Amino acid sequence: MTVTLTLPLNCSFSIPKTKPFRLTSIKPQASLQAPLLNSSQSPPIPNTGVIIIGAGLAGLAAATRLSSENIPFLLLEASDAVGGRVRTDVVDGFLLDRGFQIFITAYPEAQKLLDYHALDLQRFYSGAQVYYDGEFHTVADPLRHFWDSLKSFTNPIGSILDKMLIASTRIRVLSRSDEEILLSDEVQTIELLKKIGFSDSIIGRFFRPFFGGIFFDPELETTSRLFDFVFKCLALGDNTLPANGIAAIPQQLATKLPSGSIFYNSKAVSIGSDGSDSPAVRLQTGAVLRSELGVIVAVEQPEADKLLPGSIQPVQKKPARSTVCLYFSANRAQIPVQEPVLFLNGSGKGIVNNMFFATNVAPTYGPPGKSLISVSLIGSFDGISDDDLTAEVVRELSGWFKGSDVGSWTHIRTYRVKFAQPNQCPPTDLMKDPRLGSGVYLCGDYLASATFDGALVSGRRAAEALLKDRAYARV
Ligand SMILES: Cc1cc2nc3c(=O)[nH]c(=O)nc-3n(C[C@H](O)[C@H](O)[C@H](O)COP(=O)(O)OP(=O)(O)OC[C@H]3O[C@@H](n4cnc5c(N)ncnc54)[C@H](O)[C@@H]3O)c2cc1C
Repeated sequence: MTVTLTLPLNCSFSIPKTKPFRLTSIKPQASLQAPLLNSSQSPPIPNTGVIIIGAGLAGLAAATRLSSENIPFLLLEASDAVGGRVRTDVVDGFLLDRGFQIFITAYPEAQKLLDYHALDLQRFYSGAQVYYDGEFHTVADPLRHFWDSLKSFTNPIGSILDKMLIASTRIRVLSRSDEEILLSDEVQTIELLKKIGFSDSIIGRFFRPFFGGIFFDPELETTSRLFDFVFKCLALGDNTLPANGIAAIPQQLATKLPSGSIFYNSKAVSIGSDGSDSPAVRLQTGAVLRSELGVIVAVEQPEADKLLPGSIQPVQKKPARSTVCLYFSANRAQIPVQEPVLFLNGSGKGIVNNMFFATNVAPTYGPPGKSLISVSLIGSFDGISDDDLTAEVVRELSGWFKGSDVGSWTHIRTYRVKFAQPNQCPPTDLMKDPRLGSGVYLCGDYLASATFDGALVSGRRAAEALLKDRAYARV
């Protein structure tokens, strides 16, 4: 037997009556500061099961978990598509990810949720080419490219001791569970690297551009927990790109949700609670939706602070991580390398942090005969125009690829990603309780590791907390 709820926007869900809802059983941990919604001033309040706000990876993972229990939900997304920060634009046959992003196949939560085969993942070379002292030096993973790593044993990127320390770090992280890593004592990554005994050379020439590029943090102040987690995933998996662009990841999650459950261009502007466990959400349009089971807030941290003013502790005071990504095209025959390798700036000079020829990794990223080149900078470069940045990047890369006519590359687009990642310097809590109280739950990468995987984990955990509070037996 089922009860059908009438939902806004012409859709309906059925709640199986076999599972008990205990709508009055929550003990709020904190009372929400958000303004109460006054229904007398608003359109009639429709009811639904769960309202999820934000269709990035966290919101999609929460929806996936609820869907697996046949719990009705609405997924509200402010923009015109799913993915949040994980989006891809198609421009003249090129796939432009909104900022350089790599999918590591060993992400544990992603392994549970995604169909890798369908994503048609294209692999990077396991290592990098480091630009230092006017030339490129290979850093290779000895387990996957043994001869390359042997040849690079004496290069100036690090000492032989450094290379042995990389091996011992690998053993250290592999011997610990993800939970142990995320709950371990923490210091800044730079402190950890120094404590392990890495030389200034390998820190400056490899760790700063590589992990600084992953965390958008060249100072390497990010928590050692995140370093260990990512190091472990890199040791266990491959760096890849989905053949259809990074957005294929959230799109795959979205296609598995009940049809009609995602509402685009639906920006939530406030969440109100009357003290019960059925908070209401007001949309920018003025419409007010009331949830029967709770609200999961899956927006990026600055947006969450706006939606729930004064409710999220501690309020983020550390500056967010920013990046700029420039895309260029060139004839495939004219690019200087054909390998699917990441190039790192180990010189300590210039503005380019890393770059790669995207079509060398995934030929589908460009039309036939054309190469797509992706160049990443760390920071926001406010006050410098796109034209000036492009000119500087071309000048710099002309020095890297001498003999290649970098000046002939065509600039396609520049992405300035102001909020790329939350700042995860210590102190961090990467296993934060998603419960805010009064039927409101939080998820997003700022509550876990600031990675695809962390966002997915946080979404699942928020949904599971809600299910548990509602006495769902299987959780
Ligand atoms: C350039 C870049 C490179 C990255 N590289 C990597 C990488 O290589 N590997 C990796 O693991 N991670 C990487 N990350 C981090 C990773 O993308 C994020 O950690 C993750 O996608 C965050 O997902 P989320 O769901 O928490 O947040 P988001 O993706 O930000 O999703 C939040 C969603 O909420 C919506 N929203 C906001 N406000 C409202 C509102 N009021 N009403 C309705 N909807 C709203 C937004 O439109 C958005 O869709 C990168 C991030 C960036 C930006």
